[in-house]
Amino acid sequence: MENKLNEIEDVLLMGPGPSCVPESVYAALSRKTLGHMDPLFIEIMDEVKKLLLVVMQTQNRMTIPISGTGSAGMETCFVNLVEKDDPVLILINGVFGKRMQDVASRLGARVDALEFEWGTPVLLDRVEEKLKSSHYRILAVVHAETSTGVKNPVEEIGRMLQGKDTFYLVDAVTSLGGIRVATDEWGVDALYSGSQKCLSCPPGLSPVSFSNRALEAVLGRKTKVPNWYLDLSLLTQYWGGKSRVYHHTAPINMIYALYQSLLLIVEEGFENVCRRHQDCHRRLVQGLEALGLAMLVSPDHRLPMLNSLFIPEGADDAGVRRRLRNEYKIEIGAGLGPLAGKIWRIGLMGHTARPENVDRVLGALKEILGR
Ligand SMILES: *Cc1c(COP(=O)(O)O)cnc(C)c1O
Repeated sequence: MENKLNEIEDVLLMGPGPSCVPESVYAALSRKTLGHMDPLFIEIMDEVKKLLLVVMQTQNRMTIPISGTGSAGMETCFVNLVEKDDPVLILINGVFGKRMQDVASRLGARVDALEFEWGTPVLLDRVEEKLKSSHYRILAVVHAETSTGVKNPVEEIGRMLQGKDTFYLVDAVTSLGGIRVATDEWGVDALYSGSQKCLSCPPGLSPVSFSNRALEAVLGRKTKVPNWYLDLSLLTQYWGGKSRVYHHTAPINMIYALYQSLLLIVEEGFENVCRRHQDCHRRLVQGLEALGLAMLVSPDHRLPMLNSLFIPEGADDAGVRRRLRNEYKIEIGAGLGPLAGKIWRIGLMGHTARPENVDRVLGALKEILGR
């Protein structure tokens, strides 16, 4: 029988995730599967937790990878913190803010949304106004809005919440491992990420961190967490403490892979990792502008790991992406929602963020667009 796996070729992943996976992470995935209660595996779990504390810049003891992709991390944060009729404020300027609104609404929260134009950041004075007029149990925002390439002012919003009893919930799926995420310093109570963006692991795990006061709130809920699989009060008995209690079978090999990818970041040094993303971003923007292409986001609010550019007049959106994929073996991302057909998204996430990759995509675009 034919095996489709034999058709897989090396594709340079320059879309909005997944990103390129380093060889040592593939090697980690193919190590022998241990049992989920095996003493060595439990030591590996402990190492993963320690590395996450470093990368997330936190001391939160509830810091674990959730079994599932970034959206599972989003669900985990909301399902554990929201009780019915809780007032929740969500700041929206792209697809993932919208997704938060949907997730929180399904849990019976009273969701208030502040919306901002896609491609622009959350505006602080509007948030401040809103916080003056109403009290919220949770405020949620996306740090790196992957659908547009905008960086939101997460640190400044955290400052506004200082001294308030509002829980601060932050999506760091795309930001973690590419730009600074200072969970404790910014006063974040619930933070989630994903393995396949700047951590450069395949998709499948979502690192999550809860502050002590957020964890206390979860343990003191009036009603049970309505989702058994993502209930942190149960997960903590498997991931923490001396005697581990089986909850669900951990995705063992994915945890090996996350372990290896976190080690790579710590070994390279976080400052160096950030600088590499920034340098590649600068090189890409310069190259695109030299080709006469224009960026969506204004320079002050650009993410290094997700670069949105306007599709030039006359270019065939899907046709160009198809040629990139088929002839040049490069994947880039399309626009989403109101930006569909208007922008392309070039990811420089994690292992993908290398000058030779930037030059490769620039060279390919130059040829395809005939510039
Ligand atoms: C990719 C992404 C998600 C969703 O993650 P999945 O792994 O696709 O479930 C959530 N938020 C942001 C900002 C993302 O970029």
